[in-house]
Amino acid sequence: MNQEYSLLAEFNYDLVDVERGYANRTLYVNLSDNTIHSKPVTNTMKDIFIGGRGFGLWLLWDGIRDDTQWDDPENEIVISSGPIGGITQYPGSGKSIVVTVSPTTQCAVDSNVGGHFGPYLKFAGWDAIEIQGKAERDVIVFVDGVKGKVSILETPIETVDTHLLGEEVLELFADSEMEKRSISSVTAGLGADHTLIGCLNVSLYDPRRQHIRVKQAGRGGTGTVLRDKKIKALVVKSPPVKGDSNQPADLERITRVGRTMNKEVYQQDPLQNSMRTKGTTMLVDIIDYNDLLPVNNFQYGSHPETPKIAGDFWEKRFEQNLPDGCWYGCTVSCSHTAEGYLIKTGPYQGQRSYVDGPEYETIAAVGSNCGIFDPEAILELNFYCDTYGIDTISFGTLTAFIMECYEAGILNRDRTGGLELNFGNAESSIELLHQMGRGQGFGRTAGLGIRRMKQIFAEKYAADPQFLQDIGMEAKGMEYSEYITKESLAQQGGYGLANKGAQHDEAWLIFMDIVHKSIPSFEDKAEALHYFPMFRTWFGLNGLCKLPWNDVEPADNRKLYSGMEAAKVPEHVQNYVDLFVGVTGRSEVKSGEDLVRMSEAVYNFQRVFNLRLGFGTREHDAIPYRSVGPVTAREYESRQERYDKQLQDLVGFDPTGKTTQEKMAELRKYREAQYEKLVDAVYKRRGWTSQGVPTLETLKRLKVDFPEVVKVVQQANGE
Ligand code: SF4
Repeated sequence: MNQEYSLLAEFNYDLVDVERGYANRTLYVNLSDNTIHSKPVTNTMKDIFIGGRGFGLWLLWDGIRDDTQWDDPENEIVISSGPIGGITQYPGSGKSIVVTVSPTTQCAVDSNVGGHFGPYLKFAGWDAIEIQGKAERDVIVFVDGVKGKVSILETPIETVDTHLLGEEVLELFADSEMEKRSISSVTAGLGADHTLIGCLNVSLYDPRRQHIRVKQAGRGGTGTVLRDKKIKALVVKSPPVKGDSNQPADLERITRVGRTMNKEVYQQDPLQNSMRTKGTTMLVDIIDYNDLLPVNNFQYGSHPETPKIAGDFWEKRFEQNLPDGCWYGCTVSCSHTAEGYLIKTGPYQGQRSYVDGPEYETIAAVGSNCGIFDPEAILELNFYCDTYGIDTISFGTLTAFIMECYEAGILNRDRTGGLELNFGNAESSIELLHQMGRGQGFGRTAGLGIRRMKQIFAEKYAADPQFLQDIGMEAKGMEYSEYITKESLAQQGGYGLANKGAQHDEAWLIFMDIVHKSIPSFEDKAEALHYFPMFRTWFGLNGLCKLPWNDVEPADNRKLYSGMEAAKVPEHVQNYVDLFVGVTGRSEVKSGEDLVRMSEAVYNFQRVFNLRLGFGTREHDAIPYRSVGPVTAREYESRQERYDKQLQDLVGFDPTGKTTQEKMAELRKYREAQYEKLVDAVYKRRGWTSQGVPTLETLKRLKVDFPEVVKVVQQANGE
């Protein structure tokens, strides 16, 4: 180490080889009393919780009380990859999953992130790191997987913002240029200090560019919890990564599957999605074309200026001579950067840096949804969100909410401290972000998130609570990610019925629902809202990225299969069976159904976890009306022909001669009833009561009927 530091605690441990995807122990660090110890990974943990999100939820459940709040010392941050995490043969195999009690939802939140931390942690000897307590002053937790040592350190580093801190940490802990490749850090930034929407930045060192790059665990305020614990950085140093670092049970099997998949990616990606050149930005114009791109706080679904911020632009802006994976061997390589970005505002004005991304969600959140179609402004917002440790999705969605409140007269310059926050005002949006970074002005209010702002605006400014509820795009306290759902009942459920809040990573059903029209009935939608959230959960148990599952398909997928079956991409599902068995040796796992059953156990456990923390019942699955139908007359009139036809054909209401208000009222009754019917169908399919509580039979079938879990369910049922 190259600087002065104070050592607060040190723990020496034996270096062990990973066996069949597991290090077989987890690392516990308490920052209140500076204790560090090792915990064994039990067979129950492996059999039921698998790893990643499952390990995080299990350790968190065990570590907190029923009434633990996000900022109590008992709250934990758990980071774990999963048994497949860290293989290099198959694309998308290096993710980490962060679990904590969220400042925004006050439930257990899970956030999936790239970068190298989770796999490096495993190769350093730990399947998960579990951090509890709060330090008195800023600390760094350093896991040295080469020497077998864990330290809690106070260092003279003053920086908090990630783009600088990540480099300083690297200089501090790497003994050579070569060793930088073996280090990954987890940091946040000054914005995470002052808001509830802080994200975590997980680094990887890019030897070709000779700087770190960062990927974000964005959702649910994980960075806010990190900074509340006064953690400046978590750092891990790994032994060099090799093709067999995971010590898989059957290396040949995973190599064979990986070889086929990588060939398919090279052949099909340019024909299907161009992720290797455009990343997820390729979605922008497709989503706009289908009237699904959020514009002006989810009011409209497309905009004539979208081409300015769409994939073709970003393809030119990204460096195209380097494959950009966020883990070794990811041939999908969607994780692009905009290099040489000249920062235009704020504390780093005039300096050049790089921007990781932007990705689709960021472009839609801080761009179109705020009426901003200037790519330079999007880069500026992306850069500062990342370095301040602020979630771009929450920032964009809450700024869009503020802008609509501003245009509706609920806010004005007096109330925003002089910021003119109308749609399209990039300058004010950037200043709002700097206020979050500084912890000043209206940025402090905005950083509380939409759910709390709704309350504040109703109380302080006598705003109509119903209007705020209708336009405030959050569910369970989490701001919506960036898809218009008005015409997709299934995706309304995808957001509303997700355990963690309004994030699409549990279910993205829009195309299946309204483009391919392959899930027409309530039963079909309920089946989709069973299968897809469960299958997507499985990636988070195993340290995997979900993009290679269905963002690239075998050439004959749509010839061999149709409807929902095609969306499952059966050949890839079989790949994951092969990967799981190939790594863990668990030969009893034979099919995709076996994978789904693993997820179901963890998913239901998480639902009960929500119950335990006071949420998890039907009223918490409610969604804002803006995600169901048009809230304002202008919004209705923008799609009048469509809505009038629906009233006629679906509701049996003749719109002729009716006012827009009358038509909106009828449409609302119909659409809200549809959502409730959907909720009934999904609960039934998932084996839950009509109040959304998993039944004891469901828990027994999934083998998560632990006494403490059953007790929570019985209490929820009033038994
Ligand atoms: S597909 Fe993209 S996000 Fe997923 S692991 Fe590969 S580079 Fe990372």
